[in-house]
Amino acid sequence: VLLAEAVTGTGKTLAYLIPAILSRQRVLVSTGTKNLQEQIFFKDLPVLQESLGVRFTATYMKGRGNYLCLHRFENLRDSPAIRSRDETVLFDAIDEWSRRTETGDRAEMDDLPDDLPFWADIAATSENCLGSECPRYQDCFVTRMRQRAAESDLVIVNHHLLCADAAVRKSTFGEVIPSCGYAIVDEEYFGVAISNYRFEDYVRDVVRALTAKQVADQDRAEELNKDVERVRERAHAFFGSLQMARFDAGTGADSRIRVTRKLMDRVAEDAASLVAALEAVEATIALTKDLPEDVLALGRRAVELKDDTKFLTRADEREYVFFLEVRGRGTFLRASPIDVSAIVRELLLDRMTATVLTSATLAVDGSFEYVRSRLGIRRANEIRLLSEFDFARQAVLYLPKRMPDPRSPQFSEAASREVVEILKRTRGRAFVLFTSYNNLREVHRLASSTLEYPILVQGTAPRSALLRDFRSTPHAVLFATSSFWQGVDVVGEALSCVIVDKLPFASPGDPITAARIEAINERGGSAFGEYQIPLAILALQQGLGRLIRHRQDRGVLAILDPRLRTMGYGRRFLTSLPPAPVTHDLAVIERFFEE
Ligand code: SF4
Repeated sequence: VLLAEAVTGTGKTLAYLIPAILSRQRVLVSTGTKNLQEQIFFKDLPVLQESLGVRFTATYMKGRGNYLCLHRFENLRDSPAIRSRDETVLFDAIDEWSRRTETGDRAEMDDLPDDLPFWADIAATSENCLGSECPRYQDCFVTRMRQRAAESDLVIVNHHLLCADAAVRKSTFGEVIPSCGYAIVDEEYFGVAISNYRFEDYVRDVVRALTAKQVADQDRAEELNKDVERVRERAHAFFGSLQMARFDAGTGADSRIRVTRKLMDRVAEDAASLVAALEAVEATIALTKDLPEDVLALGRRAVELKDDTKFLTRADEREYVFFLEVRGRGTFLRASPIDVSAIVRELLLDRMTATVLTSATLAVDGSFEYVRSRLGIRRANEIRLLSEFDFARQAVLYLPKRMPDPRSPQFSEAASREVVEILKRTRGRAFVLFTSYNNLREVHRLASSTLEYPILVQGTAPRSALLRDFRSTPHAVLFATSSFWQGVDVVGEALSCVIVDKLPFASPGDPITAARIEAINERGGSAFGEYQIPLAILALQQGLGRLIRHRQDRGVLAILDPRLRTMGYGRRFLTSLPPAPVTHDLAVIERFFEE
């Protein structure tokens, strides 16, 4: 294992791609974000293809949900579903595109809305896939992607796909990533979740199969209809009970709560009824003769749903944290591993001949100890490549005096005043990054009437459109939350200031954070010092890393959180930040830009 910290601008990506290409081995490259994945495939590899003078092949893999399933699309196209006019237009556009696309990747269709309602019905997700039984198996986009990857020198994936692929490895058709002996992991953060499947989708798919007369035996069809109706009712009752239990737990509007034994006991009866209803569907399908593959696949999905429901409602796997999440009109039960090291070991350390883990921010307080213990790596080669940027000349760190406590109600008002004053001096050209949507909305509400610069707000347009507008609009200001903190690249004057409202501590109310804190405290450690502070330092480094991306870039970093100066741990943050001169004086910012 090699742990390599290399800050932006040191040529980290090329430093691992070149030896990977020259090794003539198949190498898996996994990135933390889709952005970086795209940059490697569309920017870096073409440059290397030309300059190295070596022929090599590479495949860019996304999650299966990004690709069109030809089989499901045909089924839907031929079904007499009632569609709105807008949907019909989009449907026809997809139909036309599906005949000429080489990849089937929905990203090729610029005009497709992110939340296209029927995409879930035509995506090539593993739980709906018929595998080699599918009539379109040979020309299926996923099959072709898998074949291309198996013949490629480089396979470019992201962590999300890597983890999802491992989760479906035991099933027959899910796995898409070919085996590789060498892995490069760019950005060490892993997040995994197991969720219960969407029951409504499942019920609808069964009803659709019945309407299309895919079950010829009339008695069996009626039985299946009753079975699936029972699944619908019981799923409704189960999720209703979960909602009630959550409400009674007095957790207010928190969208994510930790699942406790007590909470699960309250819904145990509904869970058992739901599992029984799924077993009935499974049995009816198993007992029916001469079923088409589509219906047999529905039987397999019933088994998966049942297993997941049992796993999630037992909530007794010590390695996982179980939580309940409400998003939009959906209620989700999820499980996420407490200890990422087990995943890293299973996915990488045990399977690969060699693994390189690299990131712009791996070390905390100058040491790799935190990342080693987090990922369960006992011994590794380690290297730190420090920045070649001259922060003393290229940047200023502004820490305002007299800011109220960030938890006090006065904070947003004071923060918005500071944001306005800073942006006057930088003439816009800034990212204002928030640790929560609430803070974002509040500061935006207070500051927007005074600001003279074009303001872009996360959530009002797709991320790529916001970034494009930010780059092309003079003096633009972008208000965003932490999802913008990684992998965004704006070189030059368009980005001359990054303002961070609060130190980005993960919320202890978040079930995953809470579980990790408990695990550390249980073994006698100090979760705040060992886990929360290092994690916040890494997040802050990433946020501030947006600013100086090139030797010619200049800019102001501003952190409005007074705890950086007033609390003892503030020193740990300050020593981990780039060595820019610190000021409390707005006039210094003004002079900095006059120079
Ligand atoms: S093999 Fe699976 S993903 Fe591919 S077209 Fe068939 S059902 Fe869809």
